[in-house]
Amino acid sequence: MITEKMYEKMAELAVRRGVNIQKGQPLVLSADVRDAAFVRVCVRKAYEAGAGSVTVNWLDEELTKMDYEYQTVETLSEIPDWVYDRTKYQHDKGAAYLRILSGKPGAMKDADPIKVNAYQQAYYRKVADLQSYTMNNIGQWSLFGLPSKEWAKVVFPDLSEEEAYEKLGDAIFAVTRVSEDNDPLQEWEEHDAQLMRHADIMNGHQFKALHFTSELGTDLTVELVKDHIWVGGGCTTPDGVYFDPNLPTEEIFCMPLKTGTNGIVYASRPLSYQGKVIEDFWIRFENGKAVDFDAKKEKDALKALIEFDEGSSYLGEVALVPYDSPISQSGILFFNTLYDENAACHLALGRPYPENLKGGTEMSDEELEAHGANASMEHEDFMFGTKEMSIDGIREDGTVVPVFRNGNFVF
Ligand code: ZN
Ligand code: ZN
Repeated sequence: MITEKMYEKMAELAVRRGVNIQKGQPLVLSADVRDAAFVRVCVRKAYEAGAGSVTVNWLDEELTKMDYEYQTVETLSEIPDWVYDRTKYQHDKGAAYLRILSGKPGAMKDADPIKVNAYQQAYYRKVADLQSYTMNNIGQWSLFGLPSKEWAKVVFPDLSEEEAYEKLGDAIFAVTRVSEDNDPLQEWEEHDAQLMRHADIMNGHQFKALHFTSELGTDLTVELVKDHIWVGGGCTTPDGVYFDPNLPTEEIFCMPLKTGTNGIVYASRPLSYQGKVIEDFWIRFENGKAVDFDAKKEKDALKALIEFDEGSSYLGEVALVPYDSPISQSGILFFNTLYDENAACHLALGRPYPENLKGGTEMSDEELEAHGANASMEHEDFMFGTKEMSIDGIREDGTVVPVFRNGNFVF
């Protein structure tokens, strides 16, 4: 059962740890209208924490659906200047961005994909030069989730709406480390320190490659780019403000060398892609490229992902998540990347994160490619970590160092 006190703790965690709002700083909070009661709590907590102003950006799935139903491609593609100007103004004021996720997974799956695509392309083109503010962590930003009945029914289709909602709520609060009698801020500090400790150890080793094996049949070697950086826990803005962009986060992640993955990987959890759930699949890689694959369910969706563009058949991320992490232990498929990618060791097909390469955030696309980074419009995580997963780090000279045994870090 989620109590009022727990909601207050969640709000406090989001503003003080998530975006770590600073004295006098503007906050932009994006939330669905269904969460109005919580939003008021969150806004109050933000002011109490020192926010100079709070602007709420109200969203509504039903209205968005109507936009796609009734508007034309032309009207959807026309993004007014004030959309750009508003965001530019907020960036210039040094705003922090907080986003609450409670949407129904696949809510837009019946919308005309041509219209959705037209709007998204037009929107991203319009605000393209504003993206680096959050992409490069110039200002703080953070995402966290709240249960909704619509979301809960997708996760637990066999339960009543009431039961499903309670169960999803319990799971979200538990994995976000918010309970009736704990101090979430303290727990998050310890948790982040642990993630950064693991990242530091991995960075110290500078392994040439990682070798993964699992009881499902995974036998995969993933070469890493030279001068790679394992990243985990929170981020720091250029002004030195520490924040946690994802609540929760359980991973440390790194950049594979585009042409350096060989062997076979068996997924350990279903992958929800474009409204389809791909199940029991494997992918075989040769010199970085996915050359063969199969799935018991929705093989066509897997094919669409791998063939999305040239780079989507190569890896852009390798991430380590212990089997004993809370999301893994919950055993729940949330149908939301914020949670699902933190459930197990995962790989992503497609685009890498420049921050995983020394100097990467200052490099052009060409420079990144020259360092062995993949490039793609796609970035899709899939889980392959298991209870028995073993990982060995392989040094430049061929010596082998154990990293994971029985699904967890050895250090
Ligand atoms: Zn990841
Ligand atoms: Zn990812």
